[in-house]
Parts: sequence; structure tokens; C-alpha cells
Amino acid sequence: MRVMKFGGSSLATPERIQAVADIILENVKDETVAVVVSAFQGVSNQLLECAKLAASGDKRHEEVYQGIVKRHHDAIQTLLPANNEAITQATNELLQELTEILQGISLLKEVTVGAYDHISSFGERLSANIIAAYLNKYYPTEYVDSRSLIITDDNHMHAGVLFEQTNVAIQRYYDDCQTRQPLIPVITGYIGKTVDGRTTTLGRNSSDYSATIIGAALDASRIEIWTDVDGVYSADPSLVSAAFIIPHLSLDEAIELSYYGAKVLHPSTFIPLTDKKIPLVIKNTFNPTYPGTLISDMEVNRDKKKTAAKSITAIDDITLLIWRGFGELDVSSTIERLFKTLSAASINIFLVLEGSPKHTICLAISRHEIPLARKAIQREFNLELQHELVSIDEQPGQSIIAIIGDEMKMLAPDIAGKMFQALGKVQINVNAIIQGASERNVSLVIDSHQKTRALNLIHQSFFSEFKTLFIVLIGAGRIGSALLQEIREQSMALLQRKIKLVVCGITNSRKMILNIDGIDLENWQQLLEASSESFDTTQLLKTLSQIQCGNIAMVDCTASDSVVANYPLFIQKRIHIITPNKRANVLPLTQWNKLMSQFKRHHCYFLCRTNVGAGLPILTVLEDLLSCGDTIYKIEGILSGTLSYLFNHYDGKRSFSEVLKDAEKLNMTEPDPREDLSGMDVGRKLLILARKMGWSAELSDVYVQNLVPEALRGKDKPTHFFEDLNHFEAEFKDRLRAAHQRGNVLRYVGTLENQTATAELKEIPSNHPLALSVHSDNIITFTTGHYHETPLVIRGPGAGVECTALGVFSDILKLLSKLSH
Ligand code: ADP
Ligand code: MG
Repeated sequence: MRVMKFGGSSLATPERIQAVADIILENVKDETVAVVVSAFQGVSNQLLECAKLAASGDKRHEEVYQGIVKRHHDAIQTLLPANNEAITQATNELLQELTEILQGISLLKEVTVGAYDHISSFGERLSANIIAAYLNKYYPTEYVDSRSLIITDDNHMHAGVLFEQTNVAIQRYYDDCQTRQPLIPVITGYIGKTVDGRTTTLGRNSSDYSATIIGAALDASRIEIWTDVDGVYSADPSLVSAAFIIPHLSLDEAIELSYYGAKVLHPSTFIPLTDKKIPLVIKNTFNPTYPGTLISDMEVNRDKKKTAAKSITAIDDITLLIWRGFGELDVSSTIERLFKTLSAASINIFLVLEGSPKHTICLAISRHEIPLARKAIQREFNLELQHELVSIDEQPGQSIIAIIGDEMKMLAPDIAGKMFQALGKVQINVNAIIQGASERNVSLVIDSHQKTRALNLIHQSFFSEFKTLFIVLIGAGRIGSALLQEIREQSMALLQRKIKLVVCGITNSRKMILNIDGIDLENWQQLLEASSESFDTTQLLKTLSQIQCGNIAMVDCTASDSVVANYPLFIQKRIHIITPNKRANVLPLTQWNKLMSQFKRHHCYFLCRTNVGAGLPILTVLEDLLSCGDTIYKIEGILSGTLSYLFNHYDGKRSFSEVLKDAEKLNMTEPDPREDLSGMDVGRKLLILARKMGWSAELSDVYVQNLVPEALRGKDKPTHFFEDLNHFEAEFKDRLRAAHQRGNVLRYVGTLENQTATAELKEIPSNHPLALSVHSDNIITFTTGHYHETPLVIRGPGAGVECTALGVFSDILKLLSKLSH
């Protein structure tokens, strides 16, 4: 015999009820079945609302009541379009009874807890009647009012079950049932009755409990709780998208989980099962073939893969009640009185913390019970409060997060550390942390508004084998596009290394596309083109703030000062920045220092290896040398791809201007080639290297030789620039010839030495490393303490879209290696 319980979430619409009936009819083929049902989804709340409105003389209770009437009549019409006289009459009788009670309340203008219980019993009575009538079309079925089965004390709204009488009543009913034809009893969940016949309820959402009471009384082979999720998850799936199903839970784990807020199970569910070995299964009415979660001690022992943490739960609406005793007070006896007082008032204390100074006790209590607790304490400690020997304070708006698992006790210190680390990094304040008395959980108290974030982060740090980095690309130009291509091509290989890159934003100067689930990189161009959203940093940051866990990196692939001006906005949100854009690194010194300290303060990484030498590891090698304690005497190099090309190819046979034109054709120059010839790009790179070495330098401290003849330097680019430049060919040629005569070559060289930085055209001996450059290579030499006789040389393509994009990509991987998860 099996008990199947269907919660409100499975009974939201007539269509859902049909699906429920299919499930029941499928099961009854294997074994006899008893069904327990809740009210239709939302009806219990509407009934309580009705009662409250009626008691306050508010006529709107009639509207709410009419809504309830319609809901049930509609269900009858859909489920039983014909032959529905009996069920319509039974329903109308119940509704009539309900309306009379509501009228009584609105006349009296008061509602007792007993009346609340009576009114809320209608939800289950209406739904069980209708479901029984519908099922009866396919299989003999009987409506059972659980008030004839479940006998309770008179603690209304939270009644205690009198098990002896209850078990007898249930067994007697079932025996009687067996003597008749095989039939399915459809039993109301949630409600019971006192010995003297008054209606009671077992606590909000307690139909799960009704099912286990009945299942235990009848020694059911199994009890199934059917709901709207596939089983018990590692965290509430509506808050933590990465949550996954737990196939097996021990009874103790399940008890702890339900007590600490996992809504999928009512905390009382396990009371009847403690000395019965009845397996409990949580299943999904939307996905009936899925095996669900099995809660059973026997099965769990077979579970090979044991993990310390099984699930993470949260309880909301917690207030911390802070009690302090002062002076000559006998603290231990006073504390004893405090607990006695609260226990007498039936206050449920979730956590107890001893604070410092040691006369402080901090209690986590549900917000709803605070007025009662306050009143009880005020009454008991009236004198002490008057004489200021005792004080009570409250800290509302708290949530308790509990991490639960049988194996927790072995690892508790480790786990506490892990949680602090996960939360501290994103500035979530932990107001209290405690290992539960059962040793099966570690709980912490945080501000409620940080709950979802904290749940996600803790979940990730305990369960995720993946490192996830969310990326937003600003500037989808040539480098940005190449980077996206690289990310797309590498994504499978990265997944194998347990790395997930999620590109969640792409912008150009006009538009943007945002999607925190990840943008399809197959066709991002079309998506961006079609986007109606204009590029807006505020909106972008707002979307990024929806990311609950995982690190975020902004990749700035622009050459824009205005993007740099917004870096602090990203840093404040703890978004790391990766960029080939040199503008940030050449800001005036005070601004640059400020920006760098912002990165530090917010624990953000700023990775910009492509600022010098594109993909070449120039900055990374410099960092390495410095971190090894090496002394840098001199850095000398060819740092501009364009200028490298020009002097590698200018041999006097073709004019300097013609060679420049070739470079332009090869896409190697800026739109205005005077920018390349100005040497400023080399100057900026020198400044970046200098600052890396700790020099307090400004761009104006770098001597930069401008190769553009004075006459051609104006603001606008001369229309016939290449012809005009040809007029100066004699000067270039003289310089070249003179060098050649001395056995030297011409190179545009950047040098850092003795705290001075110069970028200029130089004659270099033809056997010097810098003379060996070809194509548009960069070459850089480090003369250091360790590399004194022969300098360390790095040589290779130091410009170009592909190299730069690859360099940015390696910064992304470097960032991932720096992040712990
Ligand atoms: P029913 O109406 O069937 O009793 P409930 O709404 O009471 O359903 O419980 C199911 C809901 O519990 C799920 O939709 C889910 O959002 C929530 N929930 C909270 N924590 C968990 C968890 N750890 N595992 C599964 N569901 C959870
Ligand atoms: Mg429930």
C-alpha cells in the first residue's frame, strides 16, 4: 500500500489535476493507493485573507470569496462537464457553509484561531471532493475528510497529533475500506479534529505531514510526495540556478533540511517516520518518470559517493534578538530564566549565539514571533529592565543560511573557512556563524537582501567543479571580433579543463547586446546589428549585477579615453578589467595612482599585457624579473611594429614615403600615418614599462623624437601627405647613408636607463640584437643584474589584430588562474 500526496503546486489548474489523476491511475495498477491532497494552489492563502478582511469589516472579503467560488466551479466544469450534479451540490454546500462563517465573522468583527482553522479547512475539503469526483470517473474513489482520521490537541493552527487515537482511527478506516471494493481514498491534507470535535490544522503547508501520519499508521510500503520540482535539490532551484537533484538523503539530513527552510518538505513530515523504515520519495508531477529523491536510511548507506555538504537552505524573516545583562546580575540564572520564558511562550529559537562581552545572548527568532517574545521577556524582566540591568535590542531583516550534510561534523572548521572566504570576497557580511547542535549543519546569519547572492556563492564554492568567468566585451572592432572568435573556438577545450567562459555582453560605440545566460557567439554580429539597445554603461552594469556568482571581467578593446573614465564604475562592482587599451596606463600620474589603488582596494585584477608588444610576453617577463628581485639596468627596444617595418625596409632604393605607403597598404599604419611617425606610441609604451618598474613618470618625462618634418605637423592631415613627405627624402637618405658608411643601421629605438626614457631614431651597429629585426617585429632587450653580459632578448611580431587578440585571451586565462573559483 502506498501513500501519494499532491501539494498545491500540483493542483494549480484543472489540467494539472488531470495529470495528477493519470499518475494515480498508473500507480494503482501496481499497488493499492491512498491519496492525500492539499488545497488548490493559492486557495489556503485566499481563505485566510478572506477571514482577515471579514474580521476587519472590509467588504473586499466578498470579492476574494467569489474568486474562490469561481475557481472551484470552473474546475468542475473542465474536469466533469457532464454528470456533475452531485459534486456541484457538495461543493455548493461547502461554499454555503463557508460564506455563513464569513458573515458571522464580519458581524462579530473578530476571528479566533479556531475560526481561522475552520475557515482554512475548506481549501482541502473543496479540492479533495472535486479530485475524488474526477478520479471516480476512472476508478472507484472515495472522498475522506481527515478530521475523522487525525485527532489532535486544541493548539489551533499548529495542532499536536494524538497519535494513539489517530493511528486507531486510520487503521479502522482502512480495514473498513478493504472490506469494500478496491477503492482509492482521496484524503484532505492539513486538517484534523480535537477530541471534542473542533477543526484544527497541523501548521501551514503541512499536508506532507498528513501523508506521513497516514503512511506510518498503515505501514505503507512507501510514501510519495508529489510536487513541482524533480526532488530535493542541493539548494532551492528557484534561487540557485546551478542547483542539482540529490538522489539520496538520510532521514536525519532530510529532517535538518526541512527544519532549516527547504520549502519542499514541511518540518513535521518526519515525526511519524522516526521509528518506521518507510522510504519517502519526492517526485515531480510535471516529470513523473524521473526517479526523484529517495529519503531513507537504508538506501543512503549504499550511496558510495559521500560529500560533506548535501544541501544549502535558507530561512527568511529572521530577527536577531540581542539580550544583554549588566552589572551585578547573576548571569547564568538570568539566562536560564530567559530560555524558560521563551519556551513557555512557545517561541521557536533557530540559533543561539553567545556574544561578547560575555553577558550577551543573541537569539535568531522568526519575525512573526518577535512581538510575542518581546512581550514575554518584558513581563518576566520588568524589574531588571526598569533598573537597566538588562537590555533587549533587535536586528531585523536577517536570513539564516544552513549548509547541511551527515558528514559535516568531520569537516566543520574547514567548511566555516570556505564559507567565509566565498562570502568575504564579495563583501557579504556574516553577522553570525554557528555549528548546529546536531553537528549536521553549519549555519550563518546574514542580511536578507544578500541571501540569494550568498546562496549562489556558497553553492558554487561547495559544489561547482567549474570555474566560470563572465565576460563583457566593450569595443567589438577588429581585435574584439578576433577575441570572440578565439573564445568560441577554445570553448570546448576549456570546458574539458573545467573552465566556462560566458560572454554576456558585447558592445560597439553605438549599440550593445546583453544576456547573462551567454550570447550565441555563432552570430553575435547579426544580434548586435539588430539590437535596439544603445550602448549605456549604467544599463550594462545593472544587467551584470544580476549575475549571482562567478567572476566578471570587462574586456576593453577600444582605444578610448571615455571607456577608461568609466573603469571605476566597473571596479566598484568588483569587475576585473583586461585590456589592450593603453589609455589607462598613461593617465597623469596622480590619476593613474588613484586608479591602481582602486583596483587594489576592491581586489580587482587589471591585466594589460598587450599594452606593450601585443602578444609578446614583454610586460609579463618584466614582472617576472622584478618579482625575482632582479635589478633592471636598461630596457631597449623596437616597440612599434610600423616603425620597425619602415626602417627594416627603407634601404634608400625606394623613398621613405613609398615604404610608408607600402605599410599603409598592409594595414600597418594608423588612419593618419603621422601618428606612427610621431613616435608617441613608443613613448607611451616606455612610460608603461617605466611605471611597471616603479618610476614615478609622466608622459611628458619621456623624450620622444617626432619623425614628421616640422612643416607637415599641423592639426589636419595634409591632403597630399605622401607627396609632401617625398620633399624631405634627401634628409632621410642622408641619415641612412651616414649610418651605412659607419657599418650601422637605422632603427627607431625606445630606451629606459638611469631614470630617463627616450624614443628616437638611432644608429645601431649591424651586429647588435636590435639590428636583427625583420618584417615588423618588435625586439626588446633587458639588461639586468642576472642578464648582464648578454641581455635577455624577446623578439617577434609585436603588433597586429591576431597577436593582440591572442594576448588578450591569454590575459583571460591568467585571470582565471588567479581566481580561486
Ligand atoms: P507543494 O505545493 O507541492 O507542497 P511547495 O511549494 O511547498 O510545493 O514546495 C516545492 C518548492 O520548494 C519548489 O518549487 C522549490 O522552489 C522549493 N524548494 C526550496 N528548497 C528546495 C530544495 N532544496 N529542493 C527542492 N525544492 C526546494
Ligand atoms: Mg509543500
